[in-house]
Amino acid sequence: MLQISGLSKTYPNGVQALKDINLSISNGMFGLLGPNGAGKSSLMRTIATLQDADTGSIMFGDIDVFKQKQELRKVLGYLPQEFGVYPKVSAEEMLHYIARLKGIANAGERKELVKALLEQVNLYNHRSKSLGGYSGGMKQRFGIAQALIGNPKLIIVDEPTAGLDPAERLRFNNLLSEIGENIIIILSTHIVDDVSELCNDMAIISGGKVVQRGNPEHLVQGLDNRIWSKKVKKDEVAKYQAEYKMVIARLSGGLMRVYINSESDPGNGFVPEKATLEDIYFSNIS
Ligand code: ADP
Repeated sequence: MLQISGLSKTYPNGVQALKDINLSISNGMFGLLGPNGAGKSSLMRTIATLQDADTGSIMFGDIDVFKQKQELRKVLGYLPQEFGVYPKVSAEEMLHYIARLKGIANAGERKELVKALLEQVNLYNHRSKSLGGYSGGMKQRFGIAQALIGNPKLIIVDEPTAGLDPAERLRFNNLLSEIGENIIIILSTHIVDDVSELCNDMAIISGGKVVQRGNPEHLVQGLDNRIWSKKVKKDEVAKYQAEYKMVIARLSGGLMRVYINSESDPGNGFVPEKATLEDIYFSNIS
């Protein structure tokens, strides 16, 4: 269990990135969803012991993360948002190197591990290629392979699918979903579909605060029969926004489709819509 309590952080430039964050996270895939600038990376870096908070504490089991950074690092696998690679080194060489750094001293053991990881992330056939020649999706899969070295109990992946094309994203998410349920995986993302596809628990963070928390399906059920939509002209959107509790307006065939939250049938040409996690997301970020 990861227990985050009263975590706050203000950067030297005065930006308050985290405002009293409280979260308990159990085994399984946890989605941390929020728009750019919400504070996701600040929180991920703090859990990963790469930066300190001003106040609060983080416990991972009985490890006090701020006081026992080395202990936490031993059980952590981290794929940062900006994952730099040495362009001229091959995936195989790099994994050997990282495995040695992580204390796997026996050459035979290391060889087997590297082979197994390359197969797991489907890069075995590209193992001798230099990392500089990898596509975005291949780099991210390599990033997961390095994060898995040392059997981590806590894996943090920060915005892993941003910049991947749809096929690469699908392949990456399939890989994540196979890692296992007996550890905590925290997936930080601004892509709502990543969370609905993968996570059994989630929080939405906005402006440095946790604004929503729970199981994605349960949260969506809370909006059942409450979402309605209507196609309108672009210059009418503001009027609808003033009149209804608007969730979002989306372009649709050159017009706009406005989505509103209403307990009863709003009439006026609105049709019922099936609620989705996007409705939860857009209802909670401002
Ligand atoms: P996210 O990962 O959700 O995009 P971040 O944690 O990167 O959010 O950023 C949260 C806020 O903190 C933003 O306003 C960002 O500009 C600011 N911020 C992030 N890192 C720093 C830093 N090292 N120094 C100053 N401000 C920062």
